[in-house]
Amino acid sequence: MSTKITGIAASDGIGIAKAYTLVDPDLSFEKKTVTDPQAEIDRLATARQVTVTELEEIKAKALANLGPKEAEVFDAHLAMVNDPDFIQQVEAEIKQQSCNAETAQQDVADQFAATLEAMTDNAYMQERAADVRDVTKRVLSHLLNRPLPDLALVDSPVVVVSHDLTPSDTAQLDRHFVKGILVDLGGRTSHSAIMSRTLEIPAVVGSEKATTTIQDGQTVILDGLHGVALADPDEHELTDYKKQAADFAEQKALWEQLKDQPTVSKDGQSFMLAANIGTPADLPAVLKSGAEGIGLFRSEFLYMDSDQLPSEETQFKAYKAAVEQMDGKPVVIRTMDIGGDKDLPYMQLPKEMNPFLGYRAIRISLKRQDIFRTQLRALIRASAFGDLGIMFPMIATLEELRQAKTIFNEEKTKLVEAGVKVGEKIKLGMMIEIPNAAIFADHFAKEVDFFSIGTNDLIQYTFAADRGNERVSYLYQPYHPSLLGLINHVIKAAHRHGTSVAMCGEMAGDQTAVPLLMGMGLDEFSMSATSVLKTRNLMKHLDASTLTDLAESAINDCETSDQVKALVEKLKTSQV
Ligand code: PEP
Ligand code: MG
Repeated sequence: MSTKITGIAASDGIGIAKAYTLVDPDLSFEKKTVTDPQAEIDRLATARQVTVTELEEIKAKALANLGPKEAEVFDAHLAMVNDPDFIQQVEAEIKQQSCNAETAQQDVADQFAATLEAMTDNAYMQERAADVRDVTKRVLSHLLNRPLPDLALVDSPVVVVSHDLTPSDTAQLDRHFVKGILVDLGGRTSHSAIMSRTLEIPAVVGSEKATTTIQDGQTVILDGLHGVALADPDEHELTDYKKQAADFAEQKALWEQLKDQPTVSKDGQSFMLAANIGTPADLPAVLKSGAEGIGLFRSEFLYMDSDQLPSEETQFKAYKAAVEQMDGKPVVIRTMDIGGDKDLPYMQLPKEMNPFLGYRAIRISLKRQDIFRTQLRALIRASAFGDLGIMFPMIATLEELRQAKTIFNEEKTKLVEAGVKVGEKIKLGMMIEIPNAAIFADHFAKEVDFFSIGTNDLIQYTFAADRGNERVSYLYQPYHPSLLGLINHVIKAAHRHGTSVAMCGEMAGDQTAVPLLMGMGLDEFSMSATSVLKTRNLMKHLDASTLTDLAESAINDCETSDQVKALVEKLKTSQV
């Protein structure tokens, strides 16, 4: 009999493979007095040797899968394992105190790390403290014979089972081997969930108890379509899910046929479907998806993929690649949105009580104008190579928007005066993610070319429910009549001033929300590339002329999300 775990369906698809639990083993040990210190020194030398072999293997994988920059950190680790000063101090402690190898290794590592951490004027040395701790953890794991899990070492099909998964863990996943992701924490719009969709890896998040229920090596069926995982499935369940996986593949093949078709409803109304990306590496999937443009390039991933602020040239190349590869189709690039769950360790941002309500996105850009101006220059230069729009994230007030626009205009004027070629008409937009911006939409609409509604944040701020916290995910309600009313207000306000409205939050690809948004007159739907064709298929079956009434009824006649859902389901059953 299998064990069933339920969570939040975060990325479509079904994966079946052995569980790879990404949980650190217990590395605690007792301090012991030994009679043969030399035997401890030898034991430690063996553990160091195995550590070196392992690190070399991880480094080679990182080099092949992620590139030289990401592999560099392992050189620092290798140097640390063989550091003669370190080894000498550990061996001296073993001899002087007749203690076990584990104790000496940990003591000396603690001293080294404390010394490095005390160098507050040298960020580079401070970061090395983390390397000392990482390496010691690895050496201890070999001394204690309790292996550490490592995503870079995965070389057979697995379902990754983890308590949490940061965006940088997700970036390490090799989609050839990782057949599914099952996480205790998180919500559908947490950034690791969004990345799993970009990578087309089925995922279930917010399961709360996956890591405490599933053992490493157990067979797991991961159903990302329904938010369910089964550990140790029986023959009957395996057969059933293999069939469901085959059906899903067949359905995807049918959607594929719509790749080069326009997005029109059954009664001939046109809509624009675009895709969201993190870096130019996501472009091939966008080109394959049949998207008509890029509605959101999350530029902060360029900053997160690096161990220092990316130069103007690096950014220019990335932005140029996006507009060029999209070949005349519109590309909207959002300025850096660091903060919240997207950390940038090398910027050493202050630790805050409420990161999602704190120093984030445009708030950082307006304060750190050196960083903002560099990014704007790279963007303005890239605008000469295609159809580029720039948008500002997390705008809350008109003053912020005006200041951002002034800085943009200053940089543009400087570039034009210096004879640099720039695009003829760079569209400027802002994200509507903060309730205040939504409520005040009439005023904002007069000052931008377009809005892009970021529902991932707008929902969390409207309901005061952290988008990544599974305990409050019941409050995260995209179909609530009040939220739909707020979105409708934004769309209508924008249209009153001739401003177009896109949506780039995950709600734009949500198959229940799509008919409602069509009914409200949303101009552009931008989503994970994997949702584009399924959304085009849905739109093709809907009679757009009936959807205005549907949206009005959802906003005015319903009181709960469930009522709205039922209304949409009824309409879909009659039309699709
Ligand atoms: C959003 O908030 O909806 C959005 C698209 O931005 P992000 O998910 O990167 O916060
Ligand atoms: Mg956002």
